[in-house]
Amino acid sequence: MATAVTTDVMAPLQYLVREVSKETPDTYTLRLAPDTGGNGARFQPGQFSMLWVFGVGELPISISGNPAEHHQLVYTVRSVGQATNALITQAVGNGIGVRGPFGKGWPMEAARGHDVIVVAGGIGLAPLRPVIYEVLHNRKDYGRLVILYGARSPHDMLYRKELAAWAGHRETQVLATVDYGGMSWRGHVGVVTTLFKYARLKPSNSVAMVCGPEIMMRFATRELDSRGLGRKDIYLSMERNMKCAVGFCGHCQYGPHFICKDGPVFTYEEMRPLLEKYEL
Ligand SMILES: Cc1cc2nc3c(=O)[nH]c(=O)nc-3n(C[C@H](O)[C@H](O)[C@H](O)COP(=O)(O)OP(=O)(O)OC[C@H]3O[C@@H](n4cnc5c(N)ncnc54)[C@H](O)[C@@H]3O)c2cc1C
Repeated sequence: MATAVTTDVMAPLQYLVREVSKETPDTYTLRLAPDTGGNGARFQPGQFSMLWVFGVGELPISISGNPAEHHQLVYTVRSVGQATNALITQAVGNGIGVRGPFGKGWPMEAARGHDVIVVAGGIGLAPLRPVIYEVLHNRKDYGRLVILYGARSPHDMLYRKELAAWAGHRETQVLATVDYGGMSWRGHVGVVTTLFKYARLKPSNSVAMVCGPEIMMRFATRELDSRGLGRKDIYLSMERNMKCAVGFCGHCQYGPHFICKDGPVFTYEEMRPLLEKYEL
């Protein structure tokens, strides 16, 4: 029999689509607000929601907005299939079912007093954007902020205006690279790990947060490890198909962990033995 708590976490609340804005040809950012208005939207950087598109299905999406804004939830969605395509084609005013927020987010408390290194690949910048907002909002609580971002091409880069604006903040270094630059691109070309040689890092006093395709996280975490960051100071966000989001169904089991409730953010120390097993 379902407990009261179970009933709550499994029951979506209706939110209304307030804005849908294009980031790249296949990626859009949605702003949702509670149906009832008011402040119903608190979350920790790195947490995710289960978004239910009525008549299509439910899927996990990270919250990519500003944790200080409690009147809305913001998501950045890349269209890869039926549910994500249904999300990005929503009209303003439509209702979406929202469950959550779920999961263990980025270590904002542990990072206080330390430099923060953000390493993102592609859509992986979305779950890390709340970290950047949080650090810039509480600037004196953190050391330097270093953002390393890699995208397939200049057209695939998320939040281009914000990346430029973040670079203008004090004690903040932003480096971006693309796999294919084209004629008009004047920036770096190469995978995200090629940016490490330009980054001003202090490994002994840094916390790193990494999100992107698994192959990118494998190489980025190895690089941070080889540069002397502690394995407990390197965090990464894992992605697995999931259904319940609260550890009941077992869909997202990864070795001994459930990505939904033990993660999605884990330390490199926890993930390293599994990350190196390619077929898991
Ligand atoms: C914790 C978490 C946070 C996420 N945050 C975001 C986010 O912020 N933005 C975003 O765009 N996407 C995010 N995703 C991925 C998103 O949930 C999937 O892309 C989505 O479920 C695909 O559904 P679909 O019906 O559109 O595609 P489907 O038709 O189900 O799948 C299309 C393709 O994507 C693959 N796929 C499906 N689900 C996943 C998954 N969970 N992980 C990896 N590959 C998958 C399938 O194998 C297939 O190749 C997140 C996933 C998790 C687990």
